[in-house]
Amino acid sequence: MLRALGSILALIALMAGAVDAQQSRSADRSDRKLMIVCSTTQVADFTRQVVGDRCQVHCILAPGADPHTYMPTPGDAQMTAKADLCIQNGWHLEGKNWMSTLAKDAGKPIVTCADGVQPIELETQGEKIRDPHTWLAPKNAAVYVNNIVRGVAKLDPANKADYEARAKLYLQQLRVLDSWIREQFNVIPPAKRILVTSHDAFNYFSQEYGFKNQAPVGWSTGSEVGAGMTPERFKAVVNSIRSFGVKAVFVETSVNPKLVREIAREAGVEVGGELYSDSMGPAGSAGESYIGMMRENVLTIILALK
Ligand SMILES: [Zn+2]
Repeated sequence: MLRALGSILALIALMAGAVDAQQSRSADRSDRKLMIVCSTTQVADFTRQVVGDRCQVHCILAPGADPHTYMPTPGDAQMTAKADLCIQNGWHLEGKNWMSTLAKDAGKPIVTCADGVQPIELETQGEKIRDPHTWLAPKNAAVYVNNIVRGVAKLDPANKADYEARAKLYLQQLRVLDSWIREQFNVIPPAKRILVTSHDAFNYFSQEYGFKNQAPVGWSTGSEVGAGMTPERFKAVVNSIRSFGVKAVFVETSVNPKLVREIAREAGVEVGGELYSDSMGPAGSAGESYIGMMRENVLTIILALK
């Protein structure tokens, strides 16, 4: 009798233990969110639009930081080691390919958002470079979103429909943004659509909305081929400001404004304001999201050039 009772108690204990183990395993599964490490603020915003709260999204670059010249820290490597997926802009925006190097070193899969965009090729010193600043045209931001959906759905196929539903809404918002921009720019006559900025980030934006571009620094603020300020570039920009009768030039939030201020002084024009280019604004600012930064850029440009 006692032995039978002992066996029953043992069985109950065993069952309770099994239930506990099962509960903690399922708790593990639901508590452990997939972790995604993104390089730039824009890529992180697009990713959050797609995954909502379903995944943890970390962004390596702080708002206002320059992706071309960024040097990854040991903390970035530790974070990447914990990631399930890495997402980058690509096309050498991340100077010396720091994001793909972090992912490779940690053995993590990586999505390159710019892949699939129709590139603008820049010919510099005999080398052809795909301009990486493609997100400044909303139609290219849509390519980024689709690449991100594919990447996260592959990682987490059970929630594919959920990611696709969020993306569908956001892609609609990007189309609305695009038509809003076109409508707003109607107040600037085509002859006045000249955008002088610190570095060559606005080629896709300008191609889309009929602007001419001039930037004293080439396509990168770093030391890549075809980048950096030269006296010839400085002179060319000052000359074109004068010959086109440009009213204002713009500084960028992620680039030291010193050079553009010198150009403005030399050419006798004003600084028309600050544009978001390679980075969005800090949390709580009007430029804290992609749609917000594009909206603020358009209004800043209109105010200075119309
Ligand atoms: Zn740039």
